[in-house]
Amino acid sequence: MSQNAIEIRNLRKTYRGNKGTPPKEALKGVDLDIPKGSIFGLLGPNGAGKSTMINILAGLVVKSSGAVRIWGFDQDQNPRQSRAAIGVMPQELNLDPFFTPRGTLEVQAGLYGVPKAQRQSDAILEMVGLSDKAEAYARTLSGGMRRRLLLGKALVHEPHILVLDEPTAGVDIELRQMLWSNIRRLNEERGMTIILTTHYLEEAEEMCDEIAIINHGELVARDSTSNLLGRLDQRTLLIDPAAPLPALPELAGITVETRGDGTLALTYHAKEKNAGDVLEMLREAGVRIRDIRTEQADLEDVFLSLTASH
Ligand code: ADP
Ligand code: MG
Repeated sequence: MSQNAIEIRNLRKTYRGNKGTPPKEALKGVDLDIPKGSIFGLLGPNGAGKSTMINILAGLVVKSSGAVRIWGFDQDQNPRQSRAAIGVMPQELNLDPFFTPRGTLEVQAGLYGVPKAQRQSDAILEMVGLSDKAEAYARTLSGGMRRRLLLGKALVHEPHILVLDEPTAGVDIELRQMLWSNIRRLNEERGMTIILTTHYLEEAEEMCDEIAIINHGELVARDSTSNLLGRLDQRTLLIDPAAPLPALPELAGITVETRGDGTLALTYHAKEKNAGDVLEMLREAGVRIRDIRTEQADLEDVFLSLTASH
């Protein structure tokens, strides 16, 4: 049995254009393996193709070509098993307004063929903090409550894999903390594989073991969170020379650039050098300094540098 919860090969999706709009190539041949038991982040700006990928996994969008295996089951050859292995909390708050939270969970359980005796509606309502709203109509629930109900709905058939599409976009801090702790518990206590999409770097950084970055329908990076953070080791010192320089100094292991108004930008790796070393090298190169500032990379910069060239 494969160690991967999800295996995606050369996945393509082109949305047909209508009424004069051209077709849109939303996924351009994506290969991706997602290991079992991980909390995996699919990160990318708006329009990158995250929801398209998630919705293909969920069986809500039909792929144009490529292969998808979910928990070892090929989506085309074993649609039922592959669907049963995954639960999806979608990005949109699409709930039937005339069902109560308990009713919503019961209907969903029925759709997935969960026998009445095995249903866990009350435990799920408890987990997402909606026990006291069990009999309220969905239309009377706040946005945050609807989101929690959608999480519960994704869990009724006890899937191996839980997929959350932008779970915390636009939610307040309290709800975000609650979703995060629920997600962690599902991962730790039940070994559930979690896949979440986000355009918040902070969220991916805090939650995820591994991260894939997608932009314009292509995967641009795929690494452990710690390795991606390792790329943040880059530092930049900004120097105003005391006098104009005849030429840029050449300094080993440092990238030297000029920024308008004569500022020198010196970029180095914090693992190799510190600012003191850089200043010492400048002094030896005969550069006298009038002023110094620093710049620090964060995941945002890595993200931008990875997505900018595409
Ligand atoms: P993300 O979730 O990363 O923001 P999406 O997967 O929603 O990105 O969208 C990827 C691209 O596909 C976008 O350019 C979007 O406008 C387009 N798109 C998404 N859904 C449809 C659709 N149903 N019909 C046509 N184009 C779509
Ligand atoms: Mg989306």
